[in-house]
Amino acid sequence: MKWIFAFCFVIFAILLITGCGADGGGVPEIVGSAAHTVVQPLASVFQSPPTGGFTEPVDTGIPAAWYPPADREKGWKAIVLHHSATHNGSADKFDDYHRNGKHWMGVGYDFVIGNGNGSGDGRVEVTFRWREQIAGAHVGGTPGNWANEDAIGICLVGDFTRTSPTARQMDSLVKLVRFLQSRYGIPKSRIYGHSDTPGYKGHTVCPGRYFPMYRFKRML
Ligand SMILES: [Zn+2]
Repeated sequence: MKWIFAFCFVIFAILLITGCGADGGGVPEIVGSAAHTVVQPLASVFQSPPTGGFTEPVDTGIPAAWYPPADREKGWKAIVLHHSATHNGSADKFDDYHRNGKHWMGVGYDFVIGNGNGSGDGRVEVTFRWREQIAGAHVGGTPGNWANEDAIGICLVGDFTRTSPTARQMDSLVKLVRFLQSRYGIPKSRIYGHSDTPGYKGHTVCPGRYFPMYRFKRML
């Protein structure tokens, strides 16, 4: 009987050892291979460029049209905000008015932000003044014409003596002005409403009493 017990014990021990050995040896391999099959594809996704020939740099959320051409970029020193004093409008519409009504070389602003009447609500249009980095025609009569020469002119469509800018216009304005501030090192103190532009001696009420200048500067 003893040898039967001994034999059973040996068989049991062998099963136990090989079983544990199989599990013990197998677990790390399975984990290892699982880790490889999971980690490697993920790693390769991060390391490889996305499919479809997409080669753009990381998306900063800034439209390419806002960047001036590198070969003629000016060192802008200030920003002047305007309203159009009209219910509707667009860069094209103001271009037509400034060109044919005032006999300027075209729209006087660098950027126009629509209100949904004539162009998209919050849509930022870039004019030829910005694309060519030339002086604007938006604040006449400052000493040495400094404001047209050195300040970026942004016009929001709307008559802010009667209504406020739309929420989307304000969102776009904040985004645009933040971009311009960081690119040219323009502090909040050099962001003006047309009527408050240093050296301006005219009587415009632009950008209107319902343009929320104080709140706008807190949003920057
Ligand atoms: Zn103005």
